[in-house]
Amino acid sequence: MLCDMCGKDTKLSKYSIEGTVLNVCSVCGKYGQKFDESRGLAYPKKKGLKKIFLSLLRW
Ligand SMILES: [Zn+2]
Repeated sequence: MLCDMCGKDTKLSKYSIEGTVLNVCSVCGKYGQKFDESRGLAYPKKKGLKKIFLSLLRW
């Protein structure tokens, strides 16, 4: 895959850089923070819980 920042064809990791999650190489990753996949997935899960909660309110 190609790095989102330098375009290098190498192994990429997800990094949070300036508020955006980018697939970058280890060199460009130093400009941001390693993106936590589990935390990233927590948001849509919470959204789902809200939907369940709202459907419960209808009863
Ligand atoms: Zn790079």
